[in-house]
Amino acid sequence: MDIQKDSVVTFHYTLKDDAGKVLDSSDGGAPLAYIHGHGNLVAGLERELTGRSAGDSLDVKVSPADGYGEYDAALVQRVPRRQLKGIAKLHVGMKLHAQTQEGPREVTVTQVLGDTVTIDANHPLAGKNLNFAINVTDVREATAEELEHGHVHGEHGHHH
Ligand code: ZN
Repeated sequence: MDIQKDSVVTFHYTLKDDAGKVLDSSDGGAPLAYIHGHGNLVAGLERELTGRSAGDSLDVKVSPADGYGEYDAALVQRVPRRQLKGIAKLHVGMKLHAQTQEGPREVTVTQVLGDTVTIDANHPLAGKNLNFAINVTDVREATAEELEHGHVHGEHGHHH
């Protein structure tokens, strides 16, 4: 069957940046399974998978607007180190959970300079083109229970 709304799609993927560096991959691990048409993947990838079927291989280039969003400089904040004094071994690249006006959010420490710590709430892939190589391994209809839960059950999905 072709991939359409409420299909359960199982696929292997490799994600590279524009320089060809591998950012993420299912190679050597379990494939990813998701319910199509519910915003479970970045928009640009989900759109390109529509109408495909098991056995298809495709390369998809997703722009930031269709991926993890444009980089937003307003999401970068400088805070005094004492505000983070409960955190041991603060270092660049560390991920923290911060309370923001929009609720809890994961932020990345991007600079530690004297008493000032810079934290960035952008998604790590914001502002980047996403180059996916996809291999669709299975397509089936979602069960009523999967649609109700909003996730896939079974081999590559949730067990409960
Ligand atoms: Zn469930």
